[in-house]
Amino acid sequence: MPHGKKSHEFFERAKKVIPYGVNSNFRYWGDNDTPVVADAKDGYVYDFDGKRYIDYRLGFGPIILGHADPFVNERVIEAIQHGVTFAATHKYEVSVAERIVEMCPGVEMVRLTNSGTECTMHAIRIARGYTERDIVLKFEGCYHGMHDYMLWSTASGDPAGMGDRHAPSAYKQSLGIPEVMRGLVQLAPWNDVEVLGDILEKRGEEIAAVIVEPILGNGTALTPQPGYLEFLREQCDQYGIVLIFDEVKTGFRIAPGGAGEYFGVLPDISTFAKALGNGYPIAAIGGKRDIMMMVEPGKVAHGGTYSGNVVGTAAAEATLEFMSTGKVFENLNRVGTTLMKGIGEILTRHGVAHYVHGTPAMFGITLGEAKPKDFRDLYTLPDWKMYEAIGMHLVENGVMAEPDGLEPWFLCSDHTDEDAAETLQKYEDAVKHVLNK
Ligand code: PMP
Repeated sequence: MPHGKKSHEFFERAKKVIPYGVNSNFRYWGDNDTPVVADAKDGYVYDFDGKRYIDYRLGFGPIILGHADPFVNERVIEAIQHGVTFAATHKYEVSVAERIVEMCPGVEMVRLTNSGTECTMHAIRIARGYTERDIVLKFEGCYHGMHDYMLWSTASGDPAGMGDRHAPSAYKQSLGIPEVMRGLVQLAPWNDVEVLGDILEKRGEEIAAVIVEPILGNGTALTPQPGYLEFLREQCDQYGIVLIFDEVKTGFRIAPGGAGEYFGVLPDISTFAKALGNGYPIAAIGGKRDIMMMVEPGKVAHGGTYSGNVVGTAAAEATLEFMSTGKVFENLNRVGTTLMKGIGEILTRHGVAHYVHGTPAMFGITLGEAKPKDFRDLYTLPDWKMYEAIGMHLVENGVMAEPDGLEPWFLCSDHTDEDAAETLQKYEDAVKHVLNK
């Protein structure tokens, strides 16, 4: 997206005082292409030159009801008139926790935090405290936030550094992570029953938690093989391991009750963020009563000045209330299905082998003959150059889909059938452009 004049000037200003002009490394697309937003409403964002984009990035997933949703904003505006942070329990915290317990199967108690990173970090500590074990097993290509526990072999990594798939080594994702942390994490390839079974046979008794994205939300929205999540559940039961579903992307998005509802497999702890607050910062750790009660003062530490603050909880209360009307998923699933089907048909019509993965609320596309099943496949099999070229053409033409195909397309309930039709038209233009037709 080569910036227009005003957007360019704005980004130059940003770069003078903010490294690379962004407050999260994932947002940087280069000096000329990094998105800048001056305004957002419903399913659209606008840059500083007033150009409109149909937005399928949606802040990397939080926006489920549309940007600047009036129902959510009004609740927040009303709530903040009465104070925002008290270091005391208030009504919005309780009503949000009650709704999460009601909506998410298996969740009996909830603690609130502010971000996905914060909630996976605390969930892991709770699991370690509960089991009195230190090692956490994570899967290649899964992303669980920015803390040092989990920044190993994520989707930004190179499988060349991840070793043999039968004996995976942890690939350090950042400078600044102490080397001693490596000993606290065990890696496994996602969707591979055999390798996981072998690892757990050797190390099962040492492992505090298995943490997993139930759909690869940072890897093209790949879905688990039938029976895979059930296998994780059985293995965790066998070895006394706490099973954590990281639902930061899937929660309140693939279904009102997240992956627990969608797949019918229940973890011991779930972590939620993103769609929970429709873009306002709020996150939650939900789990079984006996595990959650470990956060007793003097046992497992969980805290935070802003945990459960009025802004985030009022937004979440309104978001979940609106979701309970059922309208959100009806619209979002219809428009998302049109896009998934339509994109598939366009690619077929132009002779491009492909797979469409995920669910209507959060889907990904791989271009290529072979169907990827895990992160290693994603790294090697699809034609990402072509994917990116299509993505950049879309962005230039007002469809804001992430040109990095590991990041799914996200839908919100404000996306319309007209948006889908316009998107498909522009998708076909982009494919033709890339194929030089
Ligand atoms: N877990 C998952 C599955 C995520 O996708 C993300 C963010 N993309 C995080 C955790 C971290 O969340 P946050 O950016 O709010 O810290």
